[in-house]
Amino acid sequence: MNVQISVMLNVIWYYLCALKTTQMTNRTFTMIKPDATKNGHTGGILEMINKAGFRIVAMKMTHLSKEKAGEFYAVHKERPFYGELVEFMSRGPITAAILEKDNAVEDFRNLIGATNPANAEEGTIRKKYATSIGENAVHGSDSDENATIEGDFFFSKLEQF
Ligand code: GDP
Repeated sequence: MNVQISVMLNVIWYYLCALKTTQMTNRTFTMIKPDATKNGHTGGILEMINKAGFRIVAMKMTHLSKEKAGEFYAVHKERPFYGELVEFMSRGPITAAILEKDNAVEDFRNLIGATNPANAEEGTIRKKYATSIGENAVHGSDSDENATIEGDFFFSKLEQF
């Protein structure tokens, strides 16, 4: 009997761990950047996101201060374009969202396309809406770990569905 309970507990533990891993890989974070917002592309971009099978599980429109934009992109602090990036990202409103789908991070990176729209494939968001390597319409997390950090930067747990 004790052995059976122990086996059952191990199975439940294994299942919960697997579930946690699955959930992590199912979410990514995005921002519709100030250029795309100003150019009226928010609706078009959200439509592409929905058509590609992503479910929006958190969303808000907001305007980043220079301080907050700098904090979000702190990982790029040493890059030559950091000042320009902070200036751009705090220039006007953005839409932040958490998206859910199997293989979310990788699939979303494929949907947005290369950082430089000149190198982005046909059918990608950046090919359609980005104007330059700096003003490239959308952000997409580059790993599961960063997707969680970035989502939590904008949304409390109560705002993530
Ligand atoms: P991403 O993951 O494709 O967004 O690209 P990165 O992580 O390399 O860079 C973050 C953001 O910095 C990009 O999305 C651009 O907005 C900006 N950026 C990257 N490279 C350049 C550059 O050479 N010049 C400028 N002005 N901005 C850049």
